[in-house]
Amino acid sequence: MTETFRFAPSPNGLLHLGHACSALLNAARARKTGGRFLLRIEDIDVSRCRPAFEAAIYEDLAWLGLAWETPVRRQSEHFSQYRAALQTLDALGVLYPAFESRAEIARLVAERDAAAREGAGQWSRDPDGAPLYPGVAKHMPAAERAARIAAGEPHVLRLDLAAALAALGPGAKDLAWEERGAGPAGETGTVAARPELWGDVVVARKDVPASYHLAVVVDDAAQGVTEVVRGRDLFAATSIHRVLQALLGLPAPVYRHHGLVLDADGYKLSKSTGATGLRALRAAGRTPADIRRLIEPVA
Ligand code: GLU
Repeated sequence: MTETFRFAPSPNGLLHLGHACSALLNAARARKTGGRFLLRIEDIDVSRCRPAFEAAIYEDLAWLGLAWETPVRRQSEHFSQYRAALQTLDALGVLYPAFESRAEIARLVAERDAAAREGAGQWSRDPDGAPLYPGVAKHMPAAERAARIAAGEPHVLRLDLAAALAALGPGAKDLAWEERGAGPAGETGTVAARPELWGDVVVARKDVPASYHLAVVVDDAAQGVTEVVRGRDLFAATSIHRVLQALLGLPAPVYRHHGLVLDADGYKLSKSTGATGLRALRAAGRTPADIRRLIEPVA
């Protein structure tokens, strides 16, 4: 089987050193294994993605000296594939609609935090620090669900994790992945999935028939990706990706999570950190060779 790698940026900002790191590592792995290097534009978030940022991605990657196969896969062109995956999940009985607004969710989280504080705790947060889903939509009577959907009420679709693990049977507890890089605590080799840390994640957003988690597993399978090389900030999300792959009958790639390029204060780079943007570095006279040197410590 041809080893296949992908770099999957979202065109909602300019690329920074962290992106350069992922892109260069993927390309290096493809070169080393005689494999393919693919580019995927993760543009399901139609409200935040911009054609100008997509154009900038191509230009910055070319400046770095990278070449990728065309046509490039753009997620916004594959909604029908995500819909089909949602149908498969629905047929397994592992989805439910949830109708809360952001404000309602925030109110419920505050309530749960207050209740948890009485026991000196707080409502659980996911590995990204976001509160787990605090609602009870899973228990909504079927008739109410149907009526609200028929009335056109906006809703997300959530993965009923308990139902998902039950659908996977006894094998669910053995879900794992092969980690060739490392997690934040140095996890490597066979890593056991811990999907319970995420609760009932969104698999379809209110405006789009997919979420990051759903699109990424569908796309990695559709593109025949054999090794996912990406930043360590996505290590924990792999637990959810493994559950979705198992439910959808998709092959599991191996994973190589790499260290993140940190700024001088030790913070993760964000797109707003102009000083580490590839454009800014280029304007300041840095060359592609300088960029390769800068990311060497994490690679
Ligand atoms: N689109 C994601 C990002 O820009 C990367 C997704 C992935 O590599 O799985 O952070």
